[in-house]
Amino acid sequence: MIIQHYPFELLPLPYLYDALEPLIDTETMFFHHSRHLRTYTENLNRILGPYPEFHDWPLERLILENKKLPESIRQGIWNNAGGVYNHQLYFAGMSPNPTELSGKLKSALLLDFKCWEDFYEAFFEMALKLFGSGYLWLAADERGKLVILPLPNQDTPLPQGLNPILTLDLWEHAYYLKHRNQRADYIRAWFQAVNWNEAERRYQTALLQNAMQSSRPMQGC
Ligand code: MN
Repeated sequence: MIIQHYPFELLPLPYLYDALEPLIDTETMFFHHSRHLRTYTENLNRILGPYPEFHDWPLERLILENKKLPESIRQGIWNNAGGVYNHQLYFAGMSPNPTELSGKLKSALLLDFKCWEDFYEAFFEMALKLFGSGYLWLAADERGKLVILPLPNQDTPLPQGLNPILTLDLWEHAYYLKHRNQRADYIRAWFQAVNWNEAERRYQTALLQNAMQSSRPMQGC
C-alpha cells in the first residue's frame, strides 16, 4: 500500500472503466473516478496547499487527528480526505475477476454472522435502508471481530478504532445513471463484483497491525 500525502494524486483505477460491465457500467465508473474522486483530490490539495506543516500527513492522520487542524480547514479536510480515502477503498474492493470469500475473513465472518446468508441479508438490508448519502462498511475491531457499520457522507470507521475491510458507496452518483432509484439492483450487482481477495488482505493486515492472531473459537454455520 502506497503511503500518500500532499500533493495527493488521482490514483488510477485497478481496472479499466468498462471492466466491471455489466455489473457496474462504464459511464458510472468514468464519472465516479475521473470526476467525483478527482474533485475530492483537488479540493483536498487546494485546502492543504497553504499549510505546509501538514503536507507530510497521510490520509489516515488527516482523518484521525482532524481536531489538531486549524478550525477553518477542519471540516473541509474531513470531507475531502474522507472522500479520497473512501473512494480508493471502494474501487479497490471490486474486481473484474471476483474471488470467493476465503481464509481468515471467511472464518471470522461465519463466526460473527453465523452463516453467509445471514451476513448477506444483514448487509443488504442496511445498505437498502441507509438514509441520505453515505457508505456501508464491513470493518474489524481490534480483536478481529467484524461489524457492519453505516456511516453518513464521507465519514470513515477509523475514529471508532475500527479497521475498514470493505465499503459500499451508497451515494446516488454510484448507481443513479444505470439503476436510477433502484438501489437494491445496485447492491446485488456490487455483491457480485466484490474483490474478496482484497478484503481478506485487508483483514489479515488489520490482524497483524493489532498484533494479534485471533484466538477466538472457530465455529461453523
Ligand atoms: Mn462516490
